[in-house]
Amino acid sequence: MICDECGNEYQRISQHWAWNEDHRPEINELNKERFIGLLMGDGCIESGAGNGNRKNAAMLVHNINKEFLEEIGDLISLPYNISKGKTAEQSFENFGFDHNVNKDNFHAVYRLSFVSHPYFNELKEWYSSGRKRFPKDLSLTPQSLGCWYVCDGSIERRDGRQPRMRIASVNEQGEQTVLDLFKELDVSPKWNGHSIYFSVEDSKKLWNWMERYKSFERKYSSTVIQ
Ligand SMILES: [Zn+2]
Repeated sequence: MICDECGNEYQRISQHWAWNEDHRPEINELNKERFIGLLMGDGCIESGAGNGNRKNAAMLVHNINKEFLEEIGDLISLPYNISKGKTAEQSFENFGFDHNVNKDNFHAVYRLSFVSHPYFNELKEWYSSGRKRFPKDLSLTPQSLGCWYVCDGSIERRDGRQPRMRIASVNEQGEQTVLDLFKELDVSPKWNGHSIYFSVEDSKKLWNWMERYKSFERKYSSTVIQ
């Protein structure tokens, strides 16, 4: 592959870039919004300090859907690597063998790691309180909501009722500021436990507004919400 930044050829651009932190393209707005959505969900920022020679922070995303990680990695077009995280067995064991949990609910986890980038340094701000929290100036876009939804969202299906969307957010549980994010979209969700719930009408509205990913069929089945 030819490196766009220096014009030389390398077998693995990500490896070449690991040693050349000035070799970084600008990240466009849509991709920034996707990173924000990932960070609202399963993403985390890994600080640059203490990682060998690395100066800039990197982003990691842990998810059980490997196809999604590939899809988002290709879409964003910043060099990335996908590796196997915990197996289903390890995830279950880490949970502490609680007798109330079903082993079948545990899946192998994959890890998507994007190459370090100065933009990720800005996102370290989310951790200023000591744990990851949404920043005050956050606003939703189709890209950020789409990425947040695939990480933490699901469709509630109940017999005799129309399906509706919910998004889990343990860290922000019960906070009005999270509900306020949806004001601009004329959508009014409610908290119930650690999830925000949307009415059937609001689910349809968001459904048609947000970016959707083909690797997440089970969250996007068009027969469920139209
Ligand atoms: Zn180069």
